[in-house]
Amino acid sequence: MSAQSELTKVENDLVVSLEYTLTVEGEVVDSSEENGPIDYIQGKGNIIPGLEKELAGMNVGDTKKVKVLAKDAYGEYDPEATEEIELSDFPEEIPLEVGVELAVEDEDGNATSATIVEVGETAVTLNFNHPLAGKDLEFDVKIAGVRAATAEELEHGHVHGEDECDCDCDDENCDCGCGCHNN
Ligand code: ZN
Repeated sequence: MSAQSELTKVENDLVVSLEYTLTVEGEVVDSSEENGPIDYIQGKGNIIPGLEKELAGMNVGDTKKVKVLAKDAYGEYDPEATEEIELSDFPEEIPLEVGVELAVEDEDGNATSATIVEVGETAVTLNFNHPLAGKDLEFDVKIAGVRAATAEELEHGHVHGEDECDCDCDDENCDCGCGCHNN
């Protein structure tokens, strides 16, 4: 077997193309039929750990049902993870409606999201739990393909799409170095 032999098995550091349907509490909430397959690098924590672990060793074309408990997915629901923000401190461009999701930074400056759960006379209450926190997830997956990651992808720890950056960052000054932030 030469080093060129075709890759067919999900192993660490390979880019995996994954078809999936995500079902939560009996309802389909996300699927590759709608959004296209996910490309991710196995072993880099690009996807939730409980799913990544189950995909290791699968072959191209294989299908599997994977159930991931909340603690191995988006974590248990934390009832303490809410915060009241004074209306006067609240950015004007954000609509004051229950259910609106907004991008915020956590204490360490990492991007995260919060949902408005209450709009009062003087303050807005935000919930910092992920919308899927506390929920068990059921995935129907199919391995659509695997390929070797490029050296640059391995260095960055994420997949570089053909014409679109997958680093999940809209920042023009992003220094991930993938070259797609400043054309
Ligand atoms: Zn990159």
